[in-house]
Amino acid sequence: MTHSPRTSPRSEYLQQENQRAEASPSIAEKYPRLKTVTVDLGHYDPEGVTRSSQIKYTVNLEHAKSVFRVACHNPECVRGDFDLSDVLAEAVAARRTSVSGEACCQGWRSRATIDSVPCRNILRYKLTLGY
Ligand SMILES: [Zn+2]
Repeated sequence: MTHSPRTSPRSEYLQQENQRAEASPSIAEKYPRLKTVTVDLGHYDPEGVTRSSQIKYTVNLEHAKSVFRVACHNPECVRGDFDLSDVLAEAVAARRTSVSGEACCQGWRSRATIDSVPCRNILRYKLTLGY
């Protein structure tokens, strides 16, 4: 793989992850018995105290990919973001109607701190599922 001088570790990772998501089947294809999914996402700083945003939306199952990623709110984050694919898969397998939890960003705080300062932004999520 060749590295263009114009790409950064952040953009390379995002491109790779976007390709992985694009290549995955839609949620409707992968989980045909699932009828509705609503997500409630709260983005917090690493201490879990300051909330930078709270959004709630209904997922379009035909368009959303089963590799279900939520972007980290740290604009400098490298190789982070949140992947709720497994949370969704386990919820559907157990036929749960509601699942909530907390995820910690596994990326780096910025490209200058790769291998030294982790991002650790927190996502608190709640998924409501209808069958
Ligand atoms: Zn992050």
